[in-house]
Amino acid sequence: MAPSQPIIPLYKNSYRHIVKKKKKFYRHGLTFECTSCGNCCTKSDGFVNLDESEAANIAKLLNLSESEFLETYVDVLPEAKTLSLKSRSNGDCIFLKDEQCQVYQARPTQCRTFPFWPENLKSAYRWRHVEKECPGIGTGRLYPAKEIEDILKDQRK
Ligand code: SF4
Repeated sequence: MAPSQPIIPLYKNSYRHIVKKKKKFYRHGLTFECTSCGNCCTKSDGFVNLDESEAANIAKLLNLSESEFLETYVDVLPEAKTLSLKSRSNGDCIFLKDEQCQVYQARPTQCRTFPFWPENLKSAYRWRHVEKECPGIGTGRLYPAKEIEDILKDQRK
């Protein structure tokens, strides 16, 4: 019996050449400009996570000691070993007042980088889904792909 032929020729030592690199849907950039509607800070079932230096920045802005700030505004999520801003009973971020962020200058990376989060950029479908909640998507200036990649890197630090 003749030796069976490999389905993929091995002469190139790899079949990577036949696996087309998936093109990112945002390769031509995405437009976005925050309208300050507050939707992303309200009635959310998510968390606003922050690290210690972000907590220290907000405490400084509010003229509070770090311990006062943590006690008043932060939950510690033991399972995730992470800090998270408290929410009001309706799900609004504790710092949302009159649809405005009260700590905007010192807002954590998670808020600063919205909507350019990895999970939102996984596919055009996901992005369109976020667009329904965020009226800033599809308006304003163009974020080139390189800038979007930099924002993603910023979140991995
Ligand atoms: S939902 Fe979008 S437009 Fe509204 S505040 Fe958040 S980022 Fe800005």
